[in-house]
Amino acid sequence: MEIIHANVISNGAMLADAYVRASDGVIREIGAMEQYAPDGSKVLDAEGNVLCAGYIDQHTHGAMGYDVMDATKEALDEICRHHFRNGVTTILPTTMTASLEETTKVLSFLRDYAPPVPVKIPGVHMEGPFFSVKNRGAHIERLLTAPTDAWQQMIREHAEVVKMISLSPELEGMVSFIRLCGELGIVVSGGHDDGYDDPIYAAIEAGMRNVTHIFCCSSGITRRGSPWKRLGLTEIGLTDNRLYADAIADGNGIPYDLLPLLFRAKGRDRLIFISDSMRATGLQPGTYRLGSDEEGVIVDVTETAAILHGENLFAGSIACVSKMVEDAVKRSGIPLVDAVLAATRNPAALLGLEDRGDLLPGMASAMNLITKEGELRKTVVWETVYEKGEEIQ
Ligand SMILES: [Zn+2]
Repeated sequence: MEIIHANVISNGAMLADAYVRASDGVIREIGAMEQYAPDGSKVLDAEGNVLCAGYIDQHTHGAMGYDVMDATKEALDEICRHHFRNGVTTILPTTMTASLEETTKVLSFLRDYAPPVPVKIPGVHMEGPFFSVKNRGAHIERLLTAPTDAWQQMIREHAEVVKMISLSPELEGMVSFIRLCGELGIVVSGGHDDGYDDPIYAAIEAGMRNVTHIFCCSSGITRRGSPWKRLGLTEIGLTDNRLYADAIADGNGIPYDLLPLLFRAKGRDRLIFISDSMRATGLQPGTYRLGSDEEGVIVDVTETAAILHGENLFAGSIACVSKMVEDAVKRSGIPLVDAVLAATRNPAALLGLEDRGDLLPGMASAMNLITKEGELRKTVVWETVYEKGEEIQ
């Protein structure tokens, strides 16, 4: 397979009028069109559009009426199909705060699950249950807990399927738990927290690497009974370069006018787009349940937002990472390459995914063809070209 006349985003730069050659699911060669010589394989003319790596979404709860907590093949199949139709070729299915039994069931299911479309699942993102009560957002209060021995034992037993855990860094016992996660190869992200200053820095020292949906239920600057201002996770996330920050860049979780500040603070290599997409993503506006059928919370969905019923709070989003790349360019004025990095190379770097997130020889041939305004046109995996939105069985 050869893709010719593409502007290729590779290694953080845009190669003008270039070609990419791939075989057996691996990129073999990238070069300028002047050097191009056809080798007789299938050719796709990109006609000057931009070719970049397939998108990565490290935080997605669901889509098309299904939630990861459903833990059925039908649910995960539809969630994967929805992402793939929208150019997302790698996802971390994300759990909500739930009981130990229910979480175990979801992890066990996903350990053996294989998607019906070319979407890679490096593992699960556990969002909760180790969160503060104050900034729990849509997470159910009575199910919040400390990382008890039983939870730690379960996580050890499922370590190969847990890729990431979001937790509140200030809670008791977190420093040793974060170290345990490091030993197990699990990426730790701070969020839904009520911390400030020292406990957050201690968590970073212990290995916390990311802020979960910054500006959405992450703690902010505070005084706590003295005139001295103390930084919350939001400000530490913005200022501490040891941390990545991920953002629900759908114009709601992060307003379009705020996104440039995030890029300026984190730089083009430390900001990550996440969908935090919920069950109603891809469906009509209406009332839906986020999380499991028994324990989930009610969410009112409009054309552009998912709002926690009766509260002034978003419950994730109904967007897809591909739309965030497009909106970052069109509505926030972010350079295209920087917007693409937030959906490709940066999450791959955080998650340690060495075979994806960029277009370089040796990497997986999972690619998106987008316009210069960031609008998704096609997804190319192995030798197959999929139109945006194409149905695949
Ligand atoms: Zn959340």
